[in-house]
Amino acid sequence: MNIKRAKLVSEYRLAPKLAVPLQTISLLAAVVFVASFTHEVLDTNNLYVNQHFLLTILQLLLTLWAFIEVKSVASKITYTPLKSLETVLVVQFIVLLIRGFTGDGGFIEPSSTSTYIFHPKFEVALAFTPIYLILFSGIIYFIIKSFAYAEFIKKNQLGQEMISLKEAQSALVDSEERYRIITEWAHDVIWSLDTNGNFVFVSPSIETFTGIKPNELVHQSPSRILTKFSFHLLDLTLQTIARQVKLSNRFQQYCIELEYIPFSDKVITAEVNLNCLFDSFGVFTGFVAINRDITERKKMEIELRQAKEIAEASNLSLLAANAILHGHATTDQLTGVANRRHFENSLESQISHCQLLGSAISLVVIDIDNFKAINDCYGHQVGDMVLVESARLLQSTLRKRDLLARWGGDEFIILLSGSSGTEAFGLAQHLCDKFQVHRFPVVDRLTASFGVAEFQESERIEDWFTRGDEVLYAAKSAGRNCVKFSA
Ligand code: GH3
Ligand code: MG
Repeated sequence: MNIKRAKLVSEYRLAPKLAVPLQTISLLAAVVFVASFTHEVLDTNNLYVNQHFLLTILQLLLTLWAFIEVKSVASKITYTPLKSLETVLVVQFIVLLIRGFTGDGGFIEPSSTSTYIFHPKFEVALAFTPIYLILFSGIIYFIIKSFAYAEFIKKNQLGQEMISLKEAQSALVDSEERYRIITEWAHDVIWSLDTNGNFVFVSPSIETFTGIKPNELVHQSPSRILTKFSFHLLDLTLQTIARQVKLSNRFQQYCIELEYIPFSDKVITAEVNLNCLFDSFGVFTGFVAINRDITERKKMEIELRQAKEIAEASNLSLLAANAILHGHATTDQLTGVANRRHFENSLESQISHCQLLGSAISLVVIDIDNFKAINDCYGHQVGDMVLVESARLLQSTLRKRDLLARWGGDEFIILLSGSSGTEAFGLAQHLCDKFQVHRFPVVDRLTASFGVAEFQESERIEDWFTRGDEVLYAAKSAGRNCVKFSA
């Protein structure tokens, strides 16, 4: 607003374009008139001779100058008195020119044969003086008219400016009223702070936050209503903003969370949006802050976080339980190797994988010899120990990609991905030898029988297993402790 007012004042102070040239013209006209009049008086009284020429030239030049001035103004503004002024000056120029030819010392050298139009000199002077007077009056008249016109324009301009100023003022009052209503009715608390961080304005809703009336806080520090930590945080933020404005005259809006000093056992947490205030000349005058009560939201956030933590913890135990369950579902409880179900589930994918790679896949079926006798002789527990030890012995010889499973009772099975029947046979033989030389706890020596079968292309899985079983029985029939291969 101030900037606009200053602009209006400076425009008003500018002299209207007409004023300066018209002042010059008036001055010139007056000089020409005085010169002409003096000239006539002197000439009439015959007080000088031959200077008539110079004086006439001077008058002509002054008139020409006045004409040029008027012309320059008339080119910028269309106004009839100016046109008339132009005409009067032309007439004066012509009159002066005529006068130049009508006296001693004029444009024509005086001679015995007189060049005077009028004679004697007195009559000439008598004739020209009223003409000068009329011309002078004309000039003054039109100058006054032009001045009046300039004043009229100036007044009009000022009137327009006053109207727009009034309109702007009324718009300002309206907008201030609007902001006042918003501020007073807003549930959010609005403060403005000076550059030292003290309150300049506090909206009425502060009473619901603190129980303190807004006018009691004006010129006070926010430390009166904020907790120590929050006041410190606010102070730091204000300093940062002020530094930013000072350095770059730019600022970014800050959003911080502040805690109010408890009022009637209620701890209010507010989300505070901070911004800068500038006056109409762009000078930094302080800060404005909008405080939104987020106490409920905070409470819910904490509850939500706690619930999330509990959910995460139960999820973890669920995962652990799941892992245990998965373990139970896929491993044999006694020996710890894969169980039959897991083995069967893996079969198809292993076969397709090998088929895709074009590699062979074989199985080895193992049954401990005369196991029943161990149970009978040493008891079930020792039988269990033998089973565990057998599984460990088999597993220790296998590669990572081979799958060992307990098929049931004293029977184990090995799936050898990427191994041909011959390779599987070699491994089975090696295992058979290992069994034979191994020293088992309590029972010391024992043996096992092995059946080996390679998977045939387009063979059914059941048929493959049957072949494996058949060669195992063949090994049993052949006296046990040996390996038989299904060709
Ligand atoms: P063969 O040489 O012909 O295999 O004779 P075998 O005595 O080993 O006969 P078979 O394989 O049929 O006997 C398996 C025995 O294993 C029968 C059963 O009592 C016993 N058994 C099955 N499961 C378990 C178990 O989990 N623990 C123990 N200790 N014994 C089991
Ligand atoms: Mg057996």
